[in-house]
Amino acid sequence: IFARILRGEIPNDTVAENDHALAFRDITPRAPTHVLVIPKGKYVSFDDFATNAPPDEITGFMRLCADVARQEGVSLEGGNGFRAIANAGPDGMQEVPHFHLHILGGRRLGALVADG
Ligand code: 5GP
Repeated sequence: IFARILRGEIPNDTVAENDHALAFRDITPRAPTHVLVIPKGKYVSFDDFATNAPPDEITGFMRLCADVARQEGVSLEGGNGFRAIANAGPDGMQEVPHFHLHILGGRRLGALVADG
């Protein structure tokens, strides 16, 4: 599904983009700011990306995450903070097998993980 978003086949609410990554709003936002950042290359998970992506792609991806936090007003430059989450595999309850980072903010986010 995210590959189709990257190819422009599915409309998305783009927040920011650079040569290596795309940021768009989550379709089911769990906080006032809920943005997904995905690399343009094909990686299934955080560890796949961290292990196999070339350094310039990792840098481009990370910089776009920081741009999003700043743009959304949740970075520590004037904002109140945010949480960056990468779910991986069944125990991480990853739904979409295309690596993405959730950037969440705009409210107190509560405990790191829910019980059960
Ligand atoms: P995961 O559980 O894999 O970390 O998170 C997948 C996220 O993708 C969910 O928060 C879900 O709401 C979001 N999502 C699933 N399909 C779409 C879609 O077609 N467009 C957008 N913008 N978000 C999606």
